[in-house]
Amino acid sequence: MPVLDVSRVLINPLALPALGNVAKYAATRTTAEKNANRDSATRERFALQNESRRLVPHERVARCLRYIAPKQRSVEVLHSPLDGRAHFGSLEICGSVWLCPVCASKVAEKRRQELIHAIDYWKRESGGSILFATFTVRHQRADDLQALLDRFSAAYRRLTGHRGYRQLREAYRLVGAIRALEVTHGDANGWHPHYHVLLFFDRQLDDAEISRFEALLYKLWFAAAAHEKLDMERERGLTIKHTFGAIADYVAKYGRDPKTDPWGPESEMTKAHIKQSRAGATPWELLRRAAAGDVRAGFLYREYAGVFKGRQQLVWSPHFRAALGLADDATDADVAAARPADAVSLGWLGFDEWLLVLRYDARADVLIVASSGSWTAVLDLVAGLRFRRRAERQARGLEPVPSLIIPSSLQLSFLGVA
Ligand SMILES: [Zn+2]
Repeated sequence: MPVLDVSRVLINPLALPALGNVAKYAATRTTAEKNANRDSATRERFALQNESRRLVPHERVARCLRYIAPKQRSVEVLHSPLDGRAHFGSLEICGSVWLCPVCASKVAEKRRQELIHAIDYWKRESGGSILFATFTVRHQRADDLQALLDRFSAAYRRLTGHRGYRQLREAYRLVGAIRALEVTHGDANGWHPHYHVLLFFDRQLDDAEISRFEALLYKLWFAAAAHEKLDMERERGLTIKHTFGAIADYVAKYGRDPKTDPWGPESEMTKAHIKQSRAGATPWELLRRAAAGDVRAGFLYREYAGVFKGRQQLVWSPHFRAALGLADDATDADVAAARPADAVSLGWLGFDEWLLVLRYDARADVLIVASSGSWTAVLDLVAGLRFRRRAERQARGLEPVPSLIIPSSLQLSFLGVA
């Protein structure tokens, strides 16, 4: 069956670097490498989104960037010249940071900028300390995620509502916090929900004070968890880091998937892989395994999806955003649906063309060719898909195969030949 290789359509001989000096060539190559990484990340995110759709077909992620939005008839393709990225307009967008790898990546990008702003602002304007705390509890392979997460979050609420915690806050001048909920799954110990919390103090704490603060906070956390019938080991239940490097590292990694969206140099990436395997599989890793045929990973992902959908991932303490000069408080859905300020419309794909893109799973390909800013490149890609579709229909006998036209004797007699 003649099948057109879509990747061949993407090779544009004009895009090859022109002969020039070595520095220019090296620069071109670096950009080309960067683009290649970005393109493979785009493909991977759409592939993982497809897998999420397969596993939880009744959630909004199943329609995300697939269904045309109400009152629209075609699909707009947008291009942002500033970062050279392309986007779809006029499609439904789920905005789920838990179930949609495409939306999650976009939301995380914005949240990362906000965290960087928060830390810079705090260092510049208040000169106070920032601590990076991680709260966990002991968990077992047989734990039910819903029950474990309910008790874990109840324990944290109990901690922050406790009189002892309020006294601690006042004594150390802890004025704000940003809390991120995360979960991984390990084969040995099952689900591992945890909170990463950035704690902002409006004065500098020295090492002795940090140790004392950590000891007191651990005591309160242990008691709150015990109340919910949870326990922990001292060295794991609460960890506190205070170096700028540790905080910057956390923020740089926030919301990134080490496989699709690596950060820093290669060595960092390798470290992340090692860390990843020790910490257990992230939800995206479960999707990746499920897509590769791991049925158990698929069941685990479904369990996770049911428990996490709709939860808030990042929680700022009340009024703290305003205190940091961040007025805008866009929801995850708003961020995922936002049209970049510099985006220009490249063109529109009609309904039939969009069906072809979906049929051949070419959404990522459309964005990749559109990232050049060329609408002709998008049209070429769609023409390739149309050609492939026709070839497939012809192979199945659903469409006549064009051949040399042999005139019938009747036609020949009309022409006066016979
Ligand atoms: Zn989505």
